[in-house]
This record gives sequence, structure tokens and C-alpha cells, in this order.
Amino acid sequence: MSHTAPEYALAARSTAVDGPNPSTRPVRITPTLSIGGREIVVAAGPCSVEGYEMLLSSAHHIRNSGAALLRGGAFKPRTSPYAFQGLGEEGLLLLAAVREQTGMPIVTEVMDTRQVSRVAQVADLLQVGARNMQNFPLLAELGRAGKPVLLKRGASARISELLLAAEYVMANGNDRVILCERGIRTFETITRNTLDISAIPVLKRETHLPVIVDPSHAGGRADLVLPLALAAIAAGADGLIIEVHPDPITALSDADQQLTFAQFTELMHSVALIAAATRRSIHSYTPPAAAPADGIATQPTLVPRDARRRTAAVA
Ligand code: PEP
Ligand code: MN
Repeated sequence: MSHTAPEYALAARSTAVDGPNPSTRPVRITPTLSIGGREIVVAAGPCSVEGYEMLLSSAHHIRNSGAALLRGGAFKPRTSPYAFQGLGEEGLLLLAAVREQTGMPIVTEVMDTRQVSRVAQVADLLQVGARNMQNFPLLAELGRAGKPVLLKRGASARISELLLAAEYVMANGNDRVILCERGIRTFETITRNTLDISAIPVLKRETHLPVIVDPSHAGGRADLVLPLALAAIAAGADGLIIEVHPDPITALSDADQQLTFAQFTELMHSVALIAAATRRSIHSYTPPAAAPADGIATQPTLVPRDARRRTAAVA
């Protein structure tokens, strides 16, 4: 990527903004939630919307653990046409019902120009999946959607191509674009993709757009989600999008990479520590209360996981 003559214009870095990183312009999702400011925003939820109960319990759990957005795919871009394709319209109705019930804003994928107006009625943030990053008619339509867009990097897309895809949305009238690094295809096969950590500081430096990271699709393995999430926050990501399922082994898609509720809660504690180390905090995250001593509630503190285990062992 050339530093002197970027091929993109609207996403190009601007210095005329406030905030922790002077080049990042926060994108408003709802009147009370923006991505790209001092606070880290975490979206979480199942890969696919599979039913009402699983979505509702996921929403409650992730909200109580400090997530600010509920994710869940109604339209699923599956590599095989024989794999579960998502509940479609029924999935959208379930997302709307759970938002009504919990107040959680929704991020969900839109795959086709014909779906944009309908999905935009339900979603607070419209996701463009990696496989659609260069679906130019879709990007143009999203320019007219009136809702912010989460643009995921294609598995084989260069950073410059991701930025040009963002330009399509912006040039068509929508400047509320958030970029998502979700791993790229490399020669490595142990992991599903290779998380390109360098993309985070590069995108933050080159553009004013917020950058979030998806450690679930990057690694493709539940055990990698925590370390990749921590690395992403340490590298300056504005947020995370993480797959969480009430019973991952029974998930209809991406069973290997979805976190249990307990794993997600643990992850949020650790992310809060890294956030604090970079002088940031998680949007709407309340640190776990320490166990009351002698009936007096102590000040909530963030304690490293091992330290908490040691404390528990002593108690
Ligand atoms: C998803 O987030 O549901 C998804 C399919 O991810 P990606 O487009 O990054 O593969
Ligand atoms: Mn998935």
C-alpha cells in the first residue's frame, strides 16, 4: 500500500477528530452505542440463529458478561450448499423478538441485494461476510441502507482491497463503516485462517474507520479464541465479534470454534485486563464483584484468572 497516494479516498485517515486514536472516527450504532471510541465494544452470540430459546439464553448471558451487541446469522454463507443455510426470514423474526425482549442491538449478515431492506429493518449493524467483501452491487446497495455496515475482510483480500470495498459503501452514501479482520488464507492448515494482526495497526493508521477483530473465524478453534482476542485488543482493535453457543458441540454451524457461556465470561475478564493495560475499558462491562468479606461487599476489582483461582483455593 502506498503511503503517498492511497487508492482510496473516503476512508483515508483524517486527523480532525477527537478520541484516544486521533485518526479513528467513531461509528454510531444506536444512540447509546458507538464503535471506535475509547470503549471497546464486544459483539457475541451464536454463529447461526437456530431457535428462540438458544438465542434468548445467549443474549442474556453475553449481556450479563459485558457484550454490547448480539450476533447471529439468519442467512448463512456456507461453503457447501448441503450445509445448514440458516433460518432465513424466521431467523430475522427471532432476532427481532430477542432484541425486543433484551434490548440488545443486533448484528446480522446480509448476503444479497434483494435482502438489504428487509435485513435493515431488524439489524442495528449490517454484516457483510468475508465471501461477499467484493460483491459490488451489495456494497453499493448498503450505501443506501441507512444502517451502519460491518465489512469483513475477504479470506484472500489485500488490505487495499478491503479499503476499496469500504469505499463502495461510502461512495454510495453511507460513511458508517466498520472494518473487521477475521483471518486470511495462508499456507497454514492447523488453523482455519491466519489472523493478520498487522492489519489492525495498518488500518488504524491508514484510515479513520473503526477496526474490530473476529477471533472465532480466524482460528476456527475455541481454544484459540481467547489468545487471539487478547492479541487483537493489545494491537489496538476497537472491538471483537465472538461466537458463543449454549451447547457448542450441537451447533448447526461452526461447532468447533464457538465458546461456551463460561468460556465467554472468562474471556471478558481477561479482555478487560488487556483493555485496562492499554488505558481503555469495555463498553458496559461491570467487573465481577469480589466475594463479600464479613458481609461487607468489597470494591470490584479485576484479578487475573490464576490469581482468582488461587484466592478461591485459599478461601
Ligand atoms: C460469520 O460471521 O457468521 C461469518 C460467516 O464469518 P465470515 O464471513 O468472516 O466467514
Ligand atoms: Mn460462524
